[in-house]
Amino acid sequence: KHLNLKDPSLLRDQAYINGEWVSCTASFEVNNPSTLAILGTVPNLDASHTEAAIKAAQVAFPLWAAKTGKERAMLMRKWFDLMIENADDLAAIMTAEQGKPLAEAKGEVIYGASFIEWFAEEAKRVSGDVMASTWSDKRMVVLKQPIGVCASITPWNFPIAMITRKVAPAVAAGCSIVIKPAEQTPLSALAMAELAHRAGIPAGIINIVTADSEQSIAVGKVLCDSPVVRHLSFTGSTPVGRILMRQSAQTVKKLALELGGHAPFIVFEDADLDAAVEGALQSKFRNSGQTCVCTNRFYAHESIYDAFVEKLSAGAKKIRVGDGFGAGINQGPMIDAQAVAKVEEHVADALNQGASLQAGGKLLEAGKLFYEPTVLSNVTPGMLIMNEETFGPVAAVVKFNTEEEVIAAANNTDFGLASYFYSRDIGRVWRVAEKLEYGMVGINTGLISNEVAPFGGVKQSGLGREGSKYGMDEYLEMKYLCMGGI
Ligand code: ADP
Repeated sequence: KHLNLKDPSLLRDQAYINGEWVSCTASFEVNNPSTLAILGTVPNLDASHTEAAIKAAQVAFPLWAAKTGKERAMLMRKWFDLMIENADDLAAIMTAEQGKPLAEAKGEVIYGASFIEWFAEEAKRVSGDVMASTWSDKRMVVLKQPIGVCASITPWNFPIAMITRKVAPAVAAGCSIVIKPAEQTPLSALAMAELAHRAGIPAGIINIVTADSEQSIAVGKVLCDSPVVRHLSFTGSTPVGRILMRQSAQTVKKLALELGGHAPFIVFEDADLDAAVEGALQSKFRNSGQTCVCTNRFYAHESIYDAFVEKLSAGAKKIRVGDGFGAGINQGPMIDAQAVAKVEEHVADALNQGASLQAGGKLLEAGKLFYEPTVLSNVTPGMLIMNEETFGPVAAVVKFNTEEEVIAAANNTDFGLASYFYSRDIGRVWRVAEKLEYGMVGINTGLISNEVAPFGGVKQSGLGREGSKYGMDEYLEMKYLCMGGI
């Protein structure tokens, strides 16, 4: 209502199952984290709705799988085009429910849409294989077929991209999918469903089950318990990932998990310091520090430590925090009070243990969710911020001395998603890149994600890769044919 959308019909207040908009007596509110105003309500669906969505996906699957890759690609291309045409409205809906600055939201719409474009193209390139047979009278062939009905549980930090990164390869491969979007950001998911519907993606192929935080547990249980659902993809916290993995054991589901991170960002003495500061600001403060690839620990060499801290603090102080719709705003609010509480806990703990506050350190305005871009120096390994994911705009900077020491420190964690380092020494670049135990390494850059790259982590940061030419394999099964009597 208050959003001034060019196309107000993108704002849906019903869930989307089997190509239809679904209501239910129970509903929950969606809030704007900047103003704390209620944006609207969406249905709080339960186990029976989830069963219905799985059934719809099961019925729709064989027809979709039987289409050619090119046929699926053409419908996906339409969906992509509609997302680009409606990018301003999608961005406005996202900023309203998630808080990120409008320009950043628009960037996410484009980024999110890029997965649909990419996997639409890849849909045409699913090829099998012919092995050199060891039998003269037999031939050995591998087919690739869609895995079946998929489910996906997504977070609020990238309300569109975390959905498209999963849905696009699934539907391109010929699968159908049931999505449970984050309770904080269902409106972006529903707007995407509206566009998929307009693009002509058939009923039952994409289903959106909305649920609040409590009911999401029940919905998740049904998705995990269902023998029909053959694949579950999840982006979110490591503890919830473990729950879903445990719950999926009963039906031996294939899992794609993008879990927490604790990214190190190392600035060596030979780095281009200004470039490192720029990359540091991007990797730390984007989305108010609420991304799983955001830096959590900065390591600066002792010879450039003071200069790095000073420049980083100066940069942090220039960031303008406020309502994402405001002109010139480059950092929005945190998602909720719980997120703020975690940041406050990490900052208080660091200061208690001897860290120094170089910038920020508090809420901009009491009672609201805007947290100042914060820089802490003299950070030491025992502090909470060095061990737990902060998911907020706090840069903790540690001093190091040798390359060996900093690599060991960087790897001393159960997480292994993104890592970053700055160096101009080619030998060091290779050495360090090979030794970092992470799924992704940004070298002389703080921004690494796009649809062409395999996104994912090692250790307890998850399983599988999303995006890239590898991303579709997740949703395909191999079938080996051994043909005798030749
Ligand atoms: P975040 O801290 O980013 O909210 P979570 O891992 O708690 O991360 O949530 C990510 C997604 O997982 C959300 O869609 C949320 O509703 C869902 N979720 C949380 N707990 C469960 C659960 N026990 N079962 C299924 N889904 C869950």
